[in-house]
Amino acid sequence: MTTIDLRSDTVTRPSDEMRDAARDAAVGDDVYADDPTVNELEAGAADLVGMEAALYVPSGTMGNQIAVRMHTDRGQELLCDEQAHVYKWELGGIPQLSGVQPRILDCGDRCVPTPEQVRDGYVEEDLHRPGTGLLCLENTHNSRGGVAVPTDHLDEAAAAAHDLGVPVHLDGARFCNACVALDTEPAEMTEHVDSVMFCLSKGLGAPVGSMLAGDADFIRRARRVRKLFGGAMRQAGMIAAPGLLALENVDRLAEDHANAARLAEGLNEIEGLSAPAPDTNIVMVDSEAAGMTGEELSAACKDAGVSFSAFGEYTCRLCTHLDVDGDDVAEALDRIASVVDEA
Ligand SMILES: *Cc1c(COP(=O)(O)O)cnc(C)c1O
Repeated sequence: MTTIDLRSDTVTRPSDEMRDAARDAAVGDDVYADDPTVNELEAGAADLVGMEAALYVPSGTMGNQIAVRMHTDRGQELLCDEQAHVYKWELGGIPQLSGVQPRILDCGDRCVPTPEQVRDGYVEEDLHRPGTGLLCLENTHNSRGGVAVPTDHLDEAAAAAHDLGVPVHLDGARFCNACVALDTEPAEMTEHVDSVMFCLSKGLGAPVGSMLAGDADFIRRARRVRKLFGGAMRQAGMIAAPGLLALENVDRLAEDHANAARLAEGLNEIEGLSAPAPDTNIVMVDSEAAGMTGEELSAACKDAGVSFSAFGEYTCRLCTHLDVDGDDVAEALDRIASVVDEA
């Protein structure tokens, strides 16, 4: 029995085409900006998100942390949702790497702050207060269940920040999922943010890498911070080549979303489980009524050949991706149903 791995959309294996592309990639030393494949990827990524320039970074975490460092001064504050990845899942990188203090907001189902929350959370620099240096938004919102946040909500929050002279970074690890789910042009989604990070290594299926995009001057300076953080790479064309192929996987994210919708429907049919209809490829399932904690459910399902993660006391997170199809979803549902049935 092969395990169906729904832990994350990061578990995909590179396709044969990606492996061939890695082997055959034209390379140079990217620290000298000499790697033609990386340069092509950076141009393609900038183009995709409708920004002037982009920088290839090893991970989404590094992309976000470079953005934080770029936009802020040491000692300032950063505004974000209390469930934001940049705050919750990046080892306290905001204070550790930039000397910045997060001020967290409960953004609830909206996932991004209202203009009022931005204004309330803002602190003006004076003799006693450090000033707010950055607003971070997230789309899709990972911890809140892969929620695709409509562009106008991003725009309203960004406008409130800009009115206060505060720049805006978008953590778009799954930015393309949001655009596909909302049928929104990427350039429209980024129109009012100052920088955006998106991952090639998640739904898009690349083995490695993320992109940080912004205006040309921002990216020129961000290159220095990438070096500082240890992310400047040499013949990176070897990993950028599969990244270029990943850019072609945007439209097919709709299949992952359809599989996630089917998965949630099936979970709801299992007595004791409930899962809200997902916006994108992340399904959150509640197992309280089945009398199982998230840890218990995920452990039992793992033994039965379906892997996913506990995400809260009675919550688990399941992700669809390039390496699972409709049959895998049906099989996963059968296996989960037997586990809950026997519990
Ligand atoms: C995965 C993720 C990141 C970090 O990306 P890594 O490549 O795992 O470092 C950042 N933000 C969000 C919302 C994510 O889901």
